[in-house]
Amino acid sequence: MTPGIWCQNKCLHCWRALELTFSDKIKSVEKPDKIISSCIEQQKKLLSGFGGNKNTNKKRFKEAQMPKHFAISLAGEPTLYPYLGEMIQKLREKGITSFVVTNGLGPEVLMQLQKKSSFRLSFIFLSTHRTKKFSTRLSEAT
Ligand code: SF4
Repeated sequence: MTPGIWCQNKCLHCWRALELTFSDKIKSVEKPDKIISSCIEQQKKLLSGFGGNKNTNKKRFKEAQMPKHFAISLAGEPTLYPYLGEMIQKLREKGITSFVVTNGLGPEVLMQLQKKSSFRLSFIFLSTHRTKKFSTRLSEAT
């Protein structure tokens, strides 16, 4: 799931719709409760077709209605979402674990959250040359 579609970068290979999300300026955000409940609702919708299949394991189908793990990733940089800590805490209160996929450009946020969630650091490039070729910080692009 994605709490926000913003990012500090504009990588050539990014799968975000950059023409629609070209900004690291957050204009409006949903609160964690709304995002979490919407994700669970959509998970149920996504799985609903399996309910009518006679081969579906009913116990597993019922278990799958309530996610046990949230991958906070997909598109954009999640550490820019201002309620990330609150979101992780709310998930924990519901017995849901999480991990955050991040480009690592918000180390101060990672320090604050280090005991609350796991993190997957996405190193885009290992050299300055390649970083400059394929990825541009928005602050440098404008
Ligand atoms: S760091 Fe990730 S989300 Fe941000 S522009 Fe690059 S590929 Fe896209």
